[in-house]
Amino acid sequence: MKINNSKLIYLDNASTTRVNEEVLKVYNDTHVVYFANPSSIHKEGQKSFYLLNRSKEEILRLFNLKDHEVVYLSGATEANNLAVKGVALRYKNRGNHLITTAYEHPSILEAYAQLEKEFGFKVTYLKPNEDGIITSQMVEAAMTDKTILVSIMAVNNEIGAINPIEDISNLLEKYPKAIFHVDACQAIGKLEKEINYSKVDLLTISGHKIHGLVGFGALIKKKKIELLPLNSGGGQEYGYRSGTEDLANANALVKAVQLALKDEKKNYVHVKEMADRLLAYLRNKPELYELNVPTVINPYIINFSTISKKGSVVVEALSNSNIMVSSTSACHSSKEKGSYVVASLGKSEKAINNTVRVSLDSSNTMEEIDTYVSILDEIIGEIR
Ligand code: PMP
Repeated sequence: MKINNSKLIYLDNASTTRVNEEVLKVYNDTHVVYFANPSSIHKEGQKSFYLLNRSKEEILRLFNLKDHEVVYLSGATEANNLAVKGVALRYKNRGNHLITTAYEHPSILEAYAQLEKEFGFKVTYLKPNEDGIITSQMVEAAMTDKTILVSIMAVNNEIGAINPIEDISNLLEKYPKAIFHVDACQAIGKLEKEINYSKVDLLTISGHKIHGLVGFGALIKKKKIELLPLNSGGGQEYGYRSGTEDLANANALVKAVQLALKDEKKNYVHVKEMADRLLAYLRNKPELYELNVPTVINPYIINFSTISKKGSVVVEALSNSNIMVSSTSACHSSKEKGSYVVASLGKSEKAINNTVRVSLDSSNTMEEIDTYVSILDEIIGEIR
């Protein structure tokens, strides 16, 4: 591999973010001092257990949730699997119809596919409308008296579409049999106004999308909802996730959420300025780029297709210039050539196969965006 010594420009923050030093310090400090197993009945164990519960109370306070509890897990993939399979298998006697969207993360889509194939559930996959979003009217039209689960992401990880979660949760109040799950891991700390999740039954969050640690997240659930546990063991985390509790990671996640929410508004303004500059460049060259963004743009995620060049070649050339972006989401980019998310928008084959996703963070600078734009310009000119 050729080593390029120019400064790294990291524009792949929807894949993962650089861990925050304060978060890392909380993790290390907790590990060193409170290492006793929270399930041990001795004094030190009980101290750990008390702190674990305090961390959960803080997460609930940060999201202003009163009827919920926190189940710590290894990240959004596990949280999504537990939410989807846990609900469907626990409440299968109430109905066999499930709803989700065509552009969810694979950890939702594959879980739904398994329920369809192996357990005979019927699934409705909602396609986004021309604005790139799923509306409450679309959900309402798909509801049946057998619907037991609706799972809709707050923010799409490839195109940044922001779904009207509050509207959908208001609608679903009319359907007490249907449990509402939201994968919010691309939304936390990255919106103009944080969503009110109080009416959402199950909520997925993940540490590493918000400068926390990889391998830790949570499913925040309404206390009254039951789930079929997917792993069996000592019964930790209310029986939903057996295995020794991880206090250091719990405290680190709390810190990451605190920091993400604290500066959300300020960060949004800065990220929007950068996104506007990037969008102005892309819009100015319609012969080269086609935007794959929702009507209401989320400045944290800008997705476009390279019309006359291969998207993956552009991504590789950028990488050789020390600029990191994605072609599709990192989670399925090795397996598939096109983006099923962009396909769900009804785009052409060419657009689907040549996507480039730039995902920004508050730590990025306008100077980096300018460098990115000029190098992209050069690359597009050079590739044949
Ligand atoms: N859901 C969404 C919307 C995501 O963007 C991701 C990460 N690509 C995941 C779930 C999976 O997250 P994790 O790595 O924490 O399992």
